[in-house]
Amino acid sequence: MQKVHVIAHTHWDFEWYFTRQQARVQFAYHMAEVLQALETNQLDAYLLDGQMAIVDDYLQTNPERRDQMRKFVQARRLFVGPWYTQIDEMVTSGESIVRNLQLGHKLAADLGGVMKVGYLPDSFGQGQDMPKIYQGFDIGSTVFWRGMPHEKNARYFYWTASDGSKVLAANIKNGYYAGVELIENDDVASLLHRIATDTEAHDLVLPVGGDQRAVDFNLKDRLQIANAQQNEFELLEDNYPDFFNDLAKTPDLPTYQGEFVDPSASKIHRGIYSSRADLKELYDRLEHLMIDVVEPLMVVAAHHGIEAQRGIVENIWKSIARGQAHDSSGGCNSDETNRDIVLRGTDALQLAESLRDYLLRKLASNAPDSLNVFFWNPTIQPVRQIGQITVATREPHFKLKNAAGEPEAFEVLKQEQVDNAVLRGDPAQETPDIYYRTTIAVPAVIDALDWVGLTLEPAHQSMALRTKSTTISNGIYTLTFKDGKLLLTDNRTQQTFVDPLHFEDGGDAGDTYDYSPPDEDWLLDLSLAQAEVTGHQGKFVSELIFRGEWQLPSDLPDRTAKKATTTTPYKLVLQLTADDPVIHFDLTVENTVRDHRIRLVLHTPIQAQASYADTPFGVAARPVIDPHLKDWRSIGYHEEPTALRPLIHFANTHDQTTSWTFLGLGEKEFQIVGNHFAQLAVTMFRGVGYLGRPDLNRRPGDASGLQTRYVATPDSQLLGTRHMRGGICLDATFDSAELQRRAQALAIGSLGYQNQTLDRFTTPLQYFPINANQTPLAHHSAIALNDTKLVVSSVSATADGTGYLVRLYNPSEQMYQQADTLHFAQPVSVRLLNLNNETRQTLATDVTSFELPAFKPGEIRTYGIYPRQTLPLLEEARH
Ligand SMILES: [Zn+2]
Repeated sequence: MQKVHVIAHTHWDFEWYFTRQQARVQFAYHMAEVLQALETNQLDAYLLDGQMAIVDDYLQTNPERRDQMRKFVQARRLFVGPWYTQIDEMVTSGESIVRNLQLGHKLAADLGGVMKVGYLPDSFGQGQDMPKIYQGFDIGSTVFWRGMPHEKNARYFYWTASDGSKVLAANIKNGYYAGVELIENDDVASLLHRIATDTEAHDLVLPVGGDQRAVDFNLKDRLQIANAQQNEFELLEDNYPDFFNDLAKTPDLPTYQGEFVDPSASKIHRGIYSSRADLKELYDRLEHLMIDVVEPLMVVAAHHGIEAQRGIVENIWKSIARGQAHDSSGGCNSDETNRDIVLRGTDALQLAESLRDYLLRKLASNAPDSLNVFFWNPTIQPVRQIGQITVATREPHFKLKNAAGEPEAFEVLKQEQVDNAVLRGDPAQETPDIYYRTTIAVPAVIDALDWVGLTLEPAHQSMALRTKSTTISNGIYTLTFKDGKLLLTDNRTQQTFVDPLHFEDGGDAGDTYDYSPPDEDWLLDLSLAQAEVTGHQGKFVSELIFRGEWQLPSDLPDRTAKKATTTTPYKLVLQLTADDPVIHFDLTVENTVRDHRIRLVLHTPIQAQASYADTPFGVAARPVIDPHLKDWRSIGYHEEPTALRPLIHFANTHDQTTSWTFLGLGEKEFQIVGNHFAQLAVTMFRGVGYLGRPDLNRRPGDASGLQTRYVATPDSQLLGTRHMRGGICLDATFDSAELQRRAQALAIGSLGYQNQTLDRFTTPLQYFPINANQTPLAHHSAIALNDTKLVVSSVSATADGTGYLVRLYNPSEQMYQQADTLHFAQPVSVRLLNLNNETRQTLATDVTSFELPAFKPGEIRTYGIYPRQTLPLLEEARH
């Protein structure tokens, strides 16, 4: 007799076509029912959807329930964690996934214990890195539903990652709601046979619960009936950890590796990577700001006696995690809900920007008097960059000197006069008080986690300006606009590409889940030929600016009628900085068109068979044509497996001799298209008017979301100003670690600060004076890493404030043998931690450098770095 482990649970979408607030109220009543069912033993156990966000919200309003909840968690009857939210695995960064699990672990542990099961029953696709992320948290099993390809149909199997991590996986093919039939339908046998397919295992799992579903108080009665009705299966109430203990005894389970993104058991929504591009951009910006700027800056600040604001940091990470729940991240929500997601993201962004601004100001407040302009490097590798900063000066002309008093070259990008007069109702009564606001570009070489200081002082000589030109060059590339064509020359290879990029506009008859082409699409090639082109050539920063209008069909009927009468103004800036291999890309579109998709298309010389993009902790090579593109209907796929692919920070195509990359700053979807698959198309945005629609060309059948109702989402048309940024780079070889480093540099931009009192509005709080920092600004590379092919995922301070964390990973599928070295500014002990920052091993004590042992393919490693004595060093810095 096979054993069926029945698991009472709820799947609690954090928000969706309803708001978080609506879900919260319902959850408060739901929780009362859950506790009642446990108190009365009507249920043995209950699973709270593997996520702590809903519990966190609940305990904020219902703190009196904490002890009762803890009692049941400790008794292993109420199962909570390991996640903070039911995260999206495809377009969120690796750090966000790790932080989400850390938050979930912390809160669940506070409540009596975390469920050590990687439980993501509804996420739209399973990422290839999940086994190693789970193992990093000592989680050995996982539950999911969507994405298993036709060929890998086992219900229970071992899922591995390239670093050797392995987890026991349950693919709940019939959905997390399969067991609702047990409650609502008397034909138990058919259900049980359905959940027993595709496995030889003796132990089976049957989840009983559904979206926001109320407690089934009659579960025990229904189990009794089911057990009485048949004798092939024995059903019993259970929980996931115990189910996996039994399942692990099954011999010969198959082993699979890689991501699962096939629309087999369910829809997978490959077009969701480009839904609500505005939300994706916002949360991408938050990730970069926290990981690449704020947290490393806190390490620098710690060395200068500035306390970290851990509560604010945790608050920001909670907001990020909420915005990355699978529906929230997807953008497949009502307009009201998406507005809340934008609001929460904006709120978190303001906190993160304020932390950055405060720290930069406080650090500079006790600098040597001679220095007044500063640039910071928030990475653990030295950087050589062209810093950009806007300075305020009384005189229009000024010069810069370095710390040794030598003149420092710079150029002016922009200058404006500002009147600081005290305002009067009658402007004639104001006494003018003029100063100048000047944006300059300055070359800067900055050590790891360090800064450079410059002296800005008035001067009478004129300053370097840029020349007007529609041919620009930075030593690496030359860009020219001639006879209506853009020419890109790679000066390293002397190859010239004619019109290497254009934009493409097509219809979108899909919904917030999926792109879908209309019956009669009309693709428009949006060339730059008619644009008004201006440009500036500088020694350090050059740019080409295209301003123009595209004539587009205003909606789907116009598109069918091939009527393009709507004007869409756009501005494209391509910027080159000296010696930088990345062409900075900045597009603004006034979107006036409904139901369409605009893509940037790069025309490459590469005939691709695979596309490449980064994943949370690696790189994925994916075929440019899905193997089931022809037979998807006959094998029962729920949507066309179009080769739309997610990227987190880069999308790439390469062959043996050349490599073209798009670096994204929030763009999350691409596809390799065109003749010979030589075009890399990146979705800039797409606009649709409904949450879900039925019978799409790419996705036949019921509407996604709600089957019986159209939910209009006019906001999802994304009318108005759309702003997209990124980078384009051409290389001889594909180097994913280098691409990650460039994406990070692109996101960080310049971190500059000027000590001045003229412009008191550089940030809103600049108006008010602050006390100077107690500790003088000193040079101190707390952690430095040599040139490496590893990716630095994160640099932060430990939660207890006693040390630092550095997380690195090997993005390649090869063993990484090069012995890289971490250097420290003072003697430290080095510990190997897991992804939950728990010590696994002490590796060295009292060292000022540490040689990293070889990294396995894809391996992630977290080092805890604990300086022996901080205070005397700070004293030393004072002298
Ligand atoms: Zn869901």
